[in-house]
Amino acid sequence: MNRPESSTPRSGAQRSRKAILVCPECGHESPPDGDWDVHEENHENRVRETYSCPVCGATVTTRPRFTERHVVTPR
Ligand SMILES: [Zn+2]
Repeated sequence: MNRPESSTPRSGAQRSRKAILVCPECGHESPPDGDWDVHEENHENRVRETYSCPVCGATVTTRPRFTERHVVTPR
């Protein structure tokens, strides 16, 4: 049998790798639910989360949050 050796097809390195946010300013690393200063911001019925670095205060990322808490829909 010409069985292909079980050469790991692109090792699953990505699996064990959690999403890590890195501060562009000081290089502080932490998972999204780590020690970032998260500020929620309401913007037209949408909630956005701003992640700020606890070390230098730089804005690391901003992302929408899909929590629809009684969104008032004006017809
Ligand atoms: Zn920082």
